[in-house]
Amino acid sequence: MEDDRPKHFCGVVGMALDGDAVPNLKKALRVIQHRGQEAAGIAVFNGRSISYHRGMGLVHEVLTGRAYSALSGTGGIGHVRYSTTGSSCAENCQPIVVTTMAGDLALAHNGDLVNANSIRNRLQAEGWAFLTSTDSEIIIRMMATELSINPDPIRAIKTVMKSLEGSYSITLMLGSRVFGFRDPLGFRPLCVGKIPGGYAIASESSIFEITNGDFIRDILPGEIVEISPTSITSTRTPASPHTAHCMFEWVYFARPDAIIEGKEVYQVRLNIGHILSEEKPAVADVVVPVPDSGRAHALGYAEASGIPYAEGFMKNRYIERTFIMPDQSQRDEGVLLKLNPIRSTMEGKKVVIVDDSIVRGTTMRKIVQMTRRAGAKEVHVRIGCPPIIAPCFYGIDMKTREQFAALNRTSEQIAEIITADSVGYLSQEGLVRALGISESELCMACINGKYPTKIAGEELRFQKTLEFC
Ligand code: AMP
Repeated sequence: MEDDRPKHFCGVVGMALDGDAVPNLKKALRVIQHRGQEAAGIAVFNGRSISYHRGMGLVHEVLTGRAYSALSGTGGIGHVRYSTTGSSCAENCQPIVVTTMAGDLALAHNGDLVNANSIRNRLQAEGWAFLTSTDSEIIIRMMATELSINPDPIRAIKTVMKSLEGSYSITLMLGSRVFGFRDPLGFRPLCVGKIPGGYAIASESSIFEITNGDFIRDILPGEIVEISPTSITSTRTPASPHTAHCMFEWVYFARPDAIIEGKEVYQVRLNIGHILSEEKPAVADVVVPVPDSGRAHALGYAEASGIPYAEGFMKNRYIERTFIMPDQSQRDEGVLLKLNPIRSTMEGKKVVIVDDSIVRGTTMRKIVQMTRRAGAKEVHVRIGCPPIIAPCFYGIDMKTREQFAALNRTSEQIAEIITADSVGYLSQEGLVRALGISESELCMACINGKYPTKIAGEELRFQKTLEFC
């Protein structure tokens, strides 16, 4: 399973305005920066063609300088890319821009296709050549072919969607026209709203606050939306019998202020904390969050249990992400550099530490050890996501079974590994209750091993194929 193929856990935006879209595209990308810190880029229609600027780094580092300042256009799309080990810039910066028979085409993709290899093999056998190993390139090349047959972009998107399996939330621009579309299972979020001078599409609704706009709604699974400065037009493709919204968006990835499928992420995390405290109570003096990932979960746990909440760790915001560091010793050291205990919160106390999830257990083991060194009498760990035991094929960076601390281990065994007095995970039923979304409408493959699409060698949850007209 280990590969260095890019995983598109990213963020996308798209805008159609009556004035220059560039400043708002940049603002919106900064709001969804948490969805990807490796690379950023925008593409805009300048009246004749699509021009773009993209590169490695944070949004404010990339979208600056002369090349950026030269961009202007009323329609545009943008992308932030999540970093994984082993992926190179040339291949992975987006938006991807190509010239087609129907005009310039730009695409920004969040998600991961599960049939990318078979499509690529088929197309290569037909004589196609690819510049990159990304599944996004497959999509844009298929679009270009469809547009050469018929220049109608909606028809082309519909046709291409029939071939794609897996997760994709995409913003796309053909000349001045801006589109957003989402896979029929709705794995990754995508929403639309009004902003001054036009309309915008984005991975998360939080962008509408900073752009003085108003969130309107989620783009539906399987829906194609076209935005213009004055309108939103919707085209539906036949719905899948079930959706498969990724539960991890609410548990960890999305911003707490985002509203996805009508559920505010912050509120879901508070609910998780409440239910976790009912399911896995602890006798303790203080509830401490792992900043920032476990903060809302911990607050919920403290509210429901009546145990006081206090900050127990200072986070250094300027340390690079430890999760993606290539080897274990770097990850261990990274956690130590990132967090420092606040002694007065822990000394002589029974401490409950709350975080959103355990993947390898690196972060939590270091935190438990740090808590003990700060003088804690007992350390109880509570986790807002059920045990992660299966890889994600839909865009989250959890690739190999061997890395999961929880695989084939009891809570007692995990407690031993992370040196805690006890470990308690939220149950799958508890998570579904906290979300208020039926289990049949969620993707919980990483915690129950049941995949919503066919994956060779893995258990299929529902349908064999997706039905389209
Ligand atoms: P680990 O140290 O491997 O157990 O990682 C768990 C920590 O990383 C938790 O604090 C999560 O907030 C965070 N995390 C979980 N999944 C991911 C992911 N796919 N990318 C980055 N961080 C993650």
